[in-house]
Amino acid sequence: MAREHDCDPCCLTHVRIPWVKKAVSVTAPARAVLWALAIAHADKETGRCWPAITTLASETGLSRWSVSRAVGELERLEAIEVERRHHKSTLYTICFNKDPASFRSSQHPEDVVALRTQLQGMFVAESTLS
Ligand SMILES: [Zn+2]
Repeated sequence: MAREHDCDPCCLTHVRIPWVKKAVSVTAPARAVLWALAIAHADKETGRCWPAITTLASETGLSRWSVSRAVGELERLEAIEVERRHHKSTLYTICFNKDPASFRSSQHPEDVVALRTQLQGMFVAESTLS
């Protein structure tokens, strides 16, 4: 990535916005939630944030249910890590180290199951190699 200046590794202009723009193969709600998390909330150093579902709903224009579903989708795609904490807000870590072009959602629920099985198979194959 060409840079005009020596910027922070999580520079919004040169790192985070180009990163999130590459996540083109996720569903529209997942994309909206990823934008909100990666651009509006993620900590510059750690990529972590803990916005309330209500906040994400108002920022994306989605219902709380759709936000939760989108979060689940992003978690499955390993675009984000989600830590559901007892009596505290959920902690999200954006996986800026992953290639967003590899985040591919399926639009059909039955395909999601097939995709998960396929991905698990790939991970098994990968871990056997290393
Ligand atoms: Zn920069």
